[in-house]
Amino acid sequence: MTEIRFHNTLSGRVEPFVPLTPGEVRIYTCGPTVYDYAHIGNFRTFVFQDVLRRFLGSRGLRIHQVMNLTDVDDRIIVNAAAAGISIREYTEKYVRAFLEDMDALGLERPEQIVRATDHIEQMVALVERLREKTFTYLTDGSIYYRIAKFPTYGKLSKIDLTGIQAGAGARVEVDRYEKADARDFALWKAPKPGEHFWETRIGPGRPGWHLECSAMSMHYLGETLDIHTGGIDLAFPHHENEIAQSEAASGKQFVHYWLHAEHLLVDGEKMSKSLGNFYTLRDLFAKGFKPSSIRYLLASVPYRRQLNFTMDGLQQAVSSVERLRNFAARLRAEKFPAGASPQAARAAEAVAQFEAGLADDLNTAQALAAVFDLVRDANTAMDRGEFRAGDAGPVLDALAKFDRVFAVLEDRDAERLRVLGYGASDAGISDAEIDGLIAERQAARQRRDFAAADNVRKVLLERGIILEDTRDGGIRWKRK
Ligand SMILES: [Zn+2]
Repeated sequence: MTEIRFHNTLSGRVEPFVPLTPGEVRIYTCGPTVYDYAHIGNFRTFVFQDVLRRFLGSRGLRIHQVMNLTDVDDRIIVNAAAAGISIREYTEKYVRAFLEDMDALGLERPEQIVRATDHIEQMVALVERLREKTFTYLTDGSIYYRIAKFPTYGKLSKIDLTGIQAGAGARVEVDRYEKADARDFALWKAPKPGEHFWETRIGPGRPGWHLECSAMSMHYLGETLDIHTGGIDLAFPHHENEIAQSEAASGKQFVHYWLHAEHLLVDGEKMSKSLGNFYTLRDLFAKGFKPSSIRYLLASVPYRRQLNFTMDGLQQAVSSVERLRNFAARLRAEKFPAGASPQAARAAEAVAQFEAGLADDLNTAQALAAVFDLVRDANTAMDRGEFRAGDAGPVLDALAKFDRVFAVLEDRDAERLRVLGYGASDAGISDAEIDGLIAERQAARQRRDFAAADNVRKVLLERGIILEDTRDGGIRWKRK
């Protein structure tokens, strides 16, 4: 099999991937800040990390991936205080929505999804370690990291910070906290009146965002990890600060491979609410797009290229997924003459090209091209009557290998949309679909899952179908 190579932001080069422990990969992924619904730009990065873990898993590597949920953040603290509720109450809705969105897109759950608010102790301990080594100083109750003590600061993002010095006139806010150096960042922030804080050994306050990730990644994965992923916008300052904290505390290299996903643009522009081109997944579901099409589109562009999201592109993704599903259905349904043809060898070749594409820094475009070439060739062979019964197995195997990573073949769209409360399509609902849903509801009632049963009733109602229980225990339905 082709050697796996990744572009490492740290070295700026594509390098062979060698795990620290043979057979295992330890990955840390910066998760969402749970103060709102995640948008498709966020999900571009999460789909990339899903493709990454699925591909490494397909190579037989055991994955230990940790993803954090940032539930301590200035916006969260301010919003929760304004609403008069706890941080946990405020973030619960967005945590649930994020997990539902992950499921809708078929993202594998990382082995651990951890919340910042559950790891205050680990963060305090990390600040204490840094304080012992004199990397910190205290100003007005906040604890800062002294970047001047970490000479390799900037090695990840290659950012030139020489202009940013306290009082050097740089456009960085320096007065507010009286930092010794404008580059210095808060490890621990002093409490503000009326806002939530923790009473700890290092004083009252709340952790800085960068501290959360260093503390949680090292707690679960050890002081040196194989891979750290995130969006490119996190490289500086977030990941730079994670390196500064972790390496100052441990004296060891923090991360071997830094993988960053490029930005997502919408119609060639930066996504923003004011431009009206800002989409959450749910916005797209409400427009009638299926989770599989969105997943396909987000996965189809190699992660280090900018992805220009357009409705045309999404329509193309719809047809691509349909073409793959139709092909798989044809393979299963048609009867082919006995024997084998060159198509079996063709399938093996496609698998090799597919895997070589992914091994080459997750070149998903090349991997997909290999699959679609195979689909085209096999369809042609079928049309000409040259496809043989013995070819179907190898070609189906090739599709299974493809789907182990891309995960769009099996049609679970309707079911996933239903969980989120969306109808499968706006095109009306067939009698057969209604009967299917009613059967589902009856089954749910029989296993006493009344929430699921109620949900089916709700879904049907949203699609204009009213259910009536009959006297003899049956169900009647009518259209509104
Ligand atoms: Zn992070």
